[in-house]
Amino acid sequence: MYFSRELSIYNAMEPIVSGMFEDHYVKTGILKCDCEKCQMDIILRTMNQVPPHYTSGQAGEAYIKALYQEPQLQSDILRELTKSVQVIEESPRH
Ligand SMILES: [Zn+2]
Repeated sequence: MYFSRELSIYNAMEPIVSGMFEDHYVKTGILKCDCEKCQMDIILRTMNQVPPHYTSGQAGEAYIKALYQEPQLQSDILRELTKSVQVIEESPRH
């Protein structure tokens, strides 16, 4: 196997999920617990539910911005985020 590559591979869902989580849950202050562990668990659970959209580091930014504007994608992510918040709030790992 060959792992040396010029370009890195990113999952565009990572900044999008974190950004939406930040806007809809962190800034609004509606989380029952906003400690680092719970925030991380919510993002991880959501990332595992939404299909990945891979991009390279170079093409990345424009691609991510365009994806972020898609209403369908936004509502899919928001739905999963809401579920994740409920799941983690019911059984936090601390
Ligand atoms: Zn917590």
